[in-house]
Amino acid sequence: ASVFAGIAQAPEDPILGVTVAFNKDPSPVKVNLGVGAYRTEEGKPLVLNVVRCAEQMLINDPSRYKEYLPITGLAEFNKLSAKLIFGADSPAIQENRVVTVQCLSGTGSLRVGGEFLAKHYHEHTIYIPTPTWGNHPKIFTLAGLTARTYRYYDPATRGLDFNDCVMALSLIQDLFFLTGLVEDLSSAPLGSIVLLHACAHNPTGVDPTVDQWEKIRQLMRSKSLLPFFDSAYQGFASGSLDKDAQPVRMFVADGGELLMAQSYAKNMGLYGERVGALSIVCGSADVAVRVESQLKLVIRPMYSSPPLHGPSVVATILRDSEMFNEWTVELKAMADRIISMRQQLFDALKSRGTPGDWSHIIKQIGMFTFTGLNSEQVAFMRQEYHIYMTSDGRISMAGLNMKNLPHLADAIHAAVTK
Ligand code: PMP
Repeated sequence: ASVFAGIAQAPEDPILGVTVAFNKDPSPVKVNLGVGAYRTEEGKPLVLNVVRCAEQMLINDPSRYKEYLPITGLAEFNKLSAKLIFGADSPAIQENRVVTVQCLSGTGSLRVGGEFLAKHYHEHTIYIPTPTWGNHPKIFTLAGLTARTYRYYDPATRGLDFNDCVMALSLIQDLFFLTGLVEDLSSAPLGSIVLLHACAHNPTGVDPTVDQWEKIRQLMRSKSLLPFFDSAYQGFASGSLDKDAQPVRMFVADGGELLMAQSYAKNMGLYGERVGALSIVCGSADVAVRVESQLKLVIRPMYSSPPLHGPSVVATILRDSEMFNEWTVELKAMADRIISMRQQLFDALKSRGTPGDWSHIIKQIGMFTFTGLNSEQVAFMRQEYHIYMTSDGRISMAGLNMKNLPHLADAIHAAVTK
């Protein structure tokens, strides 16, 4: 007998559950395109060389202790992280309007930011895109916010549900003519929080253009909507840290306030080290001081203080220009391999004469391709080809290589022609 005897079996996580099923499959040709973790051309996880070097330096440094970090984490890591995303010359940083706290990777940063807003911000509704990373609604709901959605992806175009010309029309006419993302953000209550993927939108790989970002920025600022950026892929999308940060920097440049959740899981390959940061760009330096004091009250009862190893690795790399450069080279190599897999997959489907327009594979960006395959086709590919992906048809491009790519192309071809 157990006092927990009545507990129901919970379902597997929709993303991590794909790996559970994959691990159980004995087939030698199986391919895991579910989880968003980088793999080399040999299909292996990768520890960046610059990370190995930094870890070696840390181990050899006898002055290092394992003391607790402060509640807000490693101060140097926080400074360097803010500089990385907002830019070294960011006026908000120079004016001391940015408060940064080290958190448990991207997820922890979102959660701490969510709890802070639930406690201290007047509006408790957060708008998240449809679709979005499956953890987003759960994180914010448990943090005490109410999650609502805004239209983002248009399956018909496999692009952004934005509607540029309608937007232009509306400036002269009426809100009545708006559609998609613009309509949904226009009709959000004043002051609502809006979650924005900084780059490499997960799961669709569809990002707004710079022009569209500018329109989103104007619309949001005109309605006092509070941006909460999720930056899980800086540098991973285009291969350039600065280019991937450009949308965020546009929002900082206008002097307005925002929240930023950063993760080093993908771009430094530090997945399991759980290293990330939450920054809040405030209207003035004295507000930033008070905000930081309240963030401490959120963090202390949650996990007291964050881990030491991960941010030490990151700070070692970011503070040293040579190591920083080496990082950017290794980061670009990861991004480039993914971009090349997009082209190869597109070419492979073209050469097979697979029906349909597959150009979205090369247009989309970041870790994932949102293939447009339906759940039935996904199930068919798992059953017949031992290819594993989430049921929404999202594939992790990083799981592809020259060896398994023809097998995937065969599977997609069979799924859409059956
Ligand atoms: N946001 C998005 C959009 C993500 O894709 C991920 C990782 N899958 C995260 C946040 C958080 O990842 P982590 O907690 O590992 O940094």
